[in-house]
Amino acid sequence: METLRAGRIHYLAPKFETQSPLTIQGFTTRHEGVSRPPYNSLNLGLNTDDSPHNVEGNRNLLSRTFGISIDRLVTVRQNHGSDILVIDSPNDDFSHFLGIEADAIITNQPGVMLGITVADCVPILLFDPVKKVIAAVHAGWQGTVAKITNKAVAGMTKIFGSREKDIMAAIGPCIGSCCYEVDQPVRDSFKEQPELWDAISEPKGKDKWHLDLALANRIQLEGAGIPLTSIQTAGQCVCCLKELYFSYRRDNGETGRQIGFIMLKES
Ligand SMILES: [Zn+2]
Repeated sequence: METLRAGRIHYLAPKFETQSPLTIQGFTTRHEGVSRPPYNSLNLGLNTDDSPHNVEGNRNLLSRTFGISIDRLVTVRQNHGSDILVIDSPNDDFSHFLGIEADAIITNQPGVMLGITVADCVPILLFDPVKKVIAAVHAGWQGTVAKITNKAVAGMTKIFGSREKDIMAAIGPCIGSCCYEVDQPVRDSFKEQPELWDAISEPKGKDKWHLDLALANRIQLEGAGIPLTSIQTAGQCVCCLKELYFSYRRDNGETGRQIGFIMLKES
């Protein structure tokens, strides 16, 4: 992935195609928005205590930068579950999707920007260039336990006829295992998936573990049939990189949200 700048938006961009790309995608940083501390400054999350006016200004900045109106930036009410919003037909106004509870969004519609807001959890972008289908996924530890990433891949194959081997994936900046300590209840929730737990956890004293959520989702993507060579990982810890990213844990919940975004270009 490379750091790019479009207008005022600084973002980390996975590369899906080198020639005549069909999509625009990336993971925003906190730079150059209008929100004030502790939400400074490009807070794109609707469910924070930031001024709604400033969040709207930031979302407007993002959408306008990539040539769409703000009502074509679709985010959902993420609730750490495994429900998926599928958008498979044109709409005049996409803003009614904002109230829908889901943790992944899939579409084959061009000109609609799918967004997943995060401040520690893993944002994952999926793209099938053959069927021209995209998805954005939100995976915290609960979504990882619920295999939300696998469900998003299954949604692309079942609903839109994607083949797993065609799908490309990007795992965005999230809290790294360096900073992500969990305790017994999290450990217990993985007991149905002991191999995954062993691969992603490292003991740190009594009843404490450090967890690698990015690796967990890479393993799940591979398990879903996505070629390893088609999976890009940002490899950045949002908790360590305070200048670049919001982190819920580092900032004790008083923080903004960055966004993982992807959009099929209008042809
Ligand atoms: Zn870290």
